[in-house]
Amino acid sequence: VVPTSPPRSSPNILVTGTPGTGKTTTAEMVALAAGLEKVTVGELVKERGLHDGYNDEFDTYWLNEDKVVDEMEEMMAGGGMCVDFHTCGFFPERWFDLVVVLRAETNNIYDRLEGRGYKQNKIQENVECEIMQVVLDEARESYKADIVMELPSNTVEDMEANVDKIVAFVEHPPAEASP
Ligand code: ADP
Ligand code: MN
Repeated sequence: VVPTSPPRSSPNILVTGTPGTGKTTTAEMVALAAGLEKVTVGELVKERGLHDGYNDEFDTYWLNEDKVVDEMEEMMAGGGMCVDFHTCGFFPERWFDLVVVLRAETNNIYDRLEGRGYKQNKIQENVECEIMQVVLDEARESYKADIVMELPSNTVEDMEANVDKIVAFVEHPPAEASP
């Protein structure tokens, strides 16, 4: 028997996608517009040491998923969180009411990551990740289909439309399906 947890007063949103798709920018706008608290998991990992050292080849930390989940458990319990991270399969499914997967054209990913000063191998890895829709597949494997929302993030207009959609979800979450 799975114990039912008390309902959250406000939904938890996950904004995921390949690096460069616009997660952090989108999540910031959503948090501001919908009155959610923003959790940038990458920063949490760095600041609170939720990793197993540094990966020099790809200029990133080796993620310690258990430490991340332990660290976030309490903040997720109350709801009202807007979480931003480039991978999504290791979070407990029960945490999220909506999982947004941002998508962008290859050339946009390339330009955005190059602009951020990423090394060529890291840019290439992320471009391939986007082409292979790795994050979208991971989201679909990890969460119920009806809470996964795939959104294009190529233009500023896309981003504004995405923020509107996500804010609308927060303000008027769909009624729960009857059993
Ligand atoms: P992520 O957090 O997914 O790596 P960011 O939010 O940091 O992505 O965005 C990376 C860069 O791309 C930023 O300079 C941002 O302004 C730009 N960007 C992101 N999404 C869009 C979009 N839909 N249209 C135009 N520029 C975008
Ligand atoms: Mn980011």
